[in-house]
Amino acid sequence: MSRSPPSCSSTSSSGSSSGSREHRFMLAAWFPVPMGGPSDVVLETAASIPWDKLGPRPLCDGCLGRLLGKAGHGLTNPERGLALRARFGVPTGWPCWVCGGLLDELGKFAGLVAENFAPWEFRTFLVGSKVDPEVSAREEALWTELGARHAEPIKSELNREIGKRVERRLGKVAEFAHPDIVAIVDTAFDSVSVQVNPIFIYGRYRKLVRGIPQTRWPCRRCQRR
Ligand SMILES: [Zn+2]
Ligand SMILES: [Zn+2]
Repeated sequence: MSRSPPSCSSTSSSGSSSGSREHRFMLAAWFPVPMGGPSDVVLETAASIPWDKLGPRPLCDGCLGRLLGKAGHGLTNPERGLALRARFGVPTGWPCWVCGGLLDELGKFAGLVAENFAPWEFRTFLVGSKVDPEVSAREEALWTELGARHAEPIKSELNREIGKRVERRLGKVAEFAHPDIVAIVDTAFDSVSVQVNPIFIYGRYRKLVRGIPQTRWPCRRCQRR
């Protein structure tokens, strides 16, 4: 019998968070405390990180957990973040120094993708994202400062977490190899562009309306275009 939960971080998340909590509760009930929990690998890996170097920069649970995003299995990044906060006393605060609150808006991004998918018939999809370079620069600076060698980029988390929410909303599946349709979310501009696999334009799928809405807004964070 394995002590690890059955799925890794990139797939565990397909269920609801209450489901995964329930799952971990069951594991905790089956195995005595010395066997440890899913966050043990994360906490062991994080022990060498000089957390005091964060100084006054607050991080949200997701951005904190993503610093160890490639350590351990069966956890979402916010779950990793909560475990790290409890163990190493990382303070809370708002807005998050890395994402500026971007990770609070996953539901909104999923809604935008669903709206932009509405004119199309499709079976499988994929979500990609564009991230403000300032956000990526901040997180990469933090990896260097903290020597975080198991970090996951915010772009991967956005793609996965928006994708999971779109799956639940539409009852369709994300597919990585040959998706029928792809949405690219520009997270700084709240805009979505859609690319449809040409097979489905000329084949058995049909486009229901002409043109794809391409609304542009000033950047919500720095007001730049
Ligand atoms: Zn954040
Ligand atoms: Zn900006």
